[in-house]
Parts: sequence; structure tokens; C-alpha cells
Amino acid sequence: MFYDVIIVGGGPAGSTAGIVLSKAGFNVLILDKAKFPRDKLCGGALTFKTELLLKKIGIFDYDSIIDYKTKEYGIFWKTREIFKGKSDYNFLFVKRKVYDFFLLEKAREKGAKVLENQKVIDIDFSKKTIITSSGKSFRYKYLIGADGVNSIVRKLAEKQGLIKNLRWKENLANAIEIYIDRKFLKNKIDYPYIILGYVNWGYSWIFPNKNQVVLGIGGLISKNKDLSKKFYSFLNDFISDYKPDKILGHTIPFGNYIRKPVFKNILLVGDAGGITNPASGEGIYSAQKSGELAGVSIIQAEKNKKDLEKTYTYLLNNFVYKEFDRDQKIRNIAYPLSNPFFTKWIFNLFSKKLEKIIHL
Ligand SMILES: Cc1cc2nc3c(=O)[nH]c(=O)nc-3n(C[C@H](O)[C@H](O)[C@H](O)COP(=O)(O)OP(=O)(O)OC[C@H]3O[C@@H](n4cnc5c(N)ncnc54)[C@H](O)[C@@H]3O)c2cc1C
Repeated sequence: MFYDVIIVGGGPAGSTAGIVLSKAGFNVLILDKAKFPRDKLCGGALTFKTELLLKKIGIFDYDSIIDYKTKEYGIFWKTREIFKGKSDYNFLFVKRKVYDFFLLEKAREKGAKVLENQKVIDIDFSKKTIITSSGKSFRYKYLIGADGVNSIVRKLAEKQGLIKNLRWKENLANAIEIYIDRKFLKNKIDYPYIILGYVNWGYSWIFPNKNQVVLGIGGLISKNKDLSKKFYSFLNDFISDYKPDKILGHTIPFGNYIRKPVFKNILLVGDAGGITNPASGEGIYSAQKSGELAGVSIIQAEKNKKDLEKTYTYLLNNFVYKEFDRDQKIRNIAYPLSNPFFTKWIFNLFSKKLEKIIHL
């Protein structure tokens, strides 16, 4: 079967690209190894810019899938609140199982064909053919790798020297997270906590949901040899009478965004391209933004004969990487210097500026 565009991965990045391209009339196939609704380890925090992007791509009815909403937030040094803020914009919290399914259904509604339980195992770039574990093969004109941090599209493209990815390992973070019932919390939590002091080059978080809370910790692998020990020490300070049977972890690109995640007709979006904020680790917005930009670049290449590599790198540089470069500089100063006094001082002076950086 031949498709104008094949998207590997139906997470936020892949669905967004699928929505944009299907709306423009392209014949799109989204392949995912999972059957949706599927879970994804994630805090599910969305910033205001994600809302703006949803509206931009024509999604207005997302209110019903928001689990929790608040403008308030707290910055903590371990258990001590050192700054309590109220931003002009809402933080939204979603369950990824619900959010990702919602987006994938939108792509399907717009006309994308979605095939689940289809794990991509090989790609013949010269024949523009994809092979899945069920033995099926599909041909494409354009290929979008939206298959997350362990992307097979990226790995195969790297192996053949099509995409260069030099900073990957040194900027990979690990994150651990659990969802628990609110009754296990030592204190009531109604707004998101960002907690410093347990981990190097990263942070811990507690995000409220309607009935549950999510507790997580994440930091650069190179700076944290014993992340699970740090996670348990954080957990003990905030919850009681609860011991998780098992904890789950997942890697996050954390400053390894690939400068040129495109080669001829192959584009990487979202975590597959390392396109996650290097200071906060926020990845849902940038997954969707890069998905949108990849879609726009293909439309420009087809309809206005624009050079695909140049268009996608130009759009990424201007609408994503400019901010990433700034945030990488901020993190390189803020994480090594972080201590209760410095962090409190920074938030007292610059909270409104920082809120804008996060939300807009
Ligand atoms: C613990 C943790 C907490 C986080 N919290 C937040 C948060 O609160 N807010 C935020 O903005 N970001 C957060 N992130 C980051 C965020 O989860 C990711 O950046 C985001 O999911 C990236 O979206 P994506 O579409 O690129 O990839 P994914 O969401 O990973 O989707 C990739 C898809 O590709 C499919 N796939 C993979 N391999 C194949 C294959 N071979 N064949 C076919 N399909 C394949 C998968 O099944 C999956 O559906 C967090 C990450 C972690 C690990």
C-alpha cells in the first residue's frame, strides 16, 4: 500500500502531524505498535501554549478531557515551600491514556488511516518502504518518525548516516513516576509542586489530579547514579502508609534536541528528535509543535515546491529551538547554583518572567 505520508508513532507528535496533513488533503497512515487507549509514563502537565496550539490546529472541545486545572503552583526545597505563585495562565493536567487517544481520534476523524498493533521493525530508505512485525509493508513519499525517545526511525537513519545525533547520551535524563490515591499524602495538595533538593540537574514534582496525585523525579543520567534511591527519599517525605510494589522509569531527551532532524523526505518529531525542553523536560507541547511544523513543511514542499530540509530546520529554529537555546543557558546556570536561597531569590524577583517563559 502506498501513502503520501507515513507517520510512525501515534503519540502527541504523530497525531498532530496527522491532523495537519490530513486536513490539507494528504493520504496519511499512522502506525503504532500499541493498541489505543494506551498508557504513557508522564505527569500530563500542559502549559497555556499547548492550549493555543490545540486551537490553532482546530481542536476546541478539549475541556472534557482535562482532569485538573489550576493557576497556582509552589516551588519547594525538599519539604519547605520557598515560593507560592499564581500565574495568569492555567496549568492543565491530563491522563495520557485519555489525551493521546483523544488526539489520535482527531487525526482519524480528519481522514488519517490509523493502524494499531503495528510495530515498525525495519525501513528500506532507498525503496521508501516500511516493514512491521506482522509482516506487512507500506510505501511512502514522506516519512515522519514520531516514535518516541527510543525511535527506530532515528536509529536506522543514524546507522546509515542520514541524521547526525552527536549529543544524545550526555543529555539523556531518566524519570521515575507513580500515581497514588490522595489519601496517602501527608498533606493536602491542590496545586502543582516543583521540588528541588533531591536530584541533581533535574527536579521532583507532585501534580494534582481529581482523585489521584502523580509523584515523579527526573534528572540527567550522567549526574544521578542512584535515581531510585533519591525517589524513595522524596516519597518518604510526602506520603505515608504506602509502598509501591514497583516503580516505573522512562528516559527523556533533556538537552539533546537534534539540530537537523530531517534528511530528504524523512523527518523526526517530538521525543524521536530529542525535541523536549532542556530545562523543564516539558515534551508534550514541543512534540505537538514539531508535529505541526513537520506537517507544514511537507505541505510547503508539495504545494509550493519549497526545500523540505530547509523549511523544517528553519521553522524548528525559529519556533522551537530559539527558546530551547535560551532555556538551555538558563538551566546551565540555575541547576548547578540551585540552593534554597538562590532559588527563592530568583522566584521573588523573576516569577512573572519565568511564568511567561513556561506558558508562552
Ligand atoms: C516520567 C515522565 C514524566 C513526564 N511528564 C511530562 C509532563 O508533565 N508534561 C510534558 O509536557 N511532558 C512530560 N514528559 C515528556 C513527554 O511524556 C514526552 O515528551 C512526550 O510523550 C513525547 O511525545 P511523542 O509523541 O514524541 O512520543 P510518545 O508519546 O512517546 O509516543 C510515541 C509513540 O510511538 C509508538 N512507537 C514506538 N516505537 C514504535 C515502533 N517501532 N513502531 C510503531 N510505533 C512505535 C509508541 O507506542 C507511542 O505511542 C514526561 C516524560 C516522562 C518520562
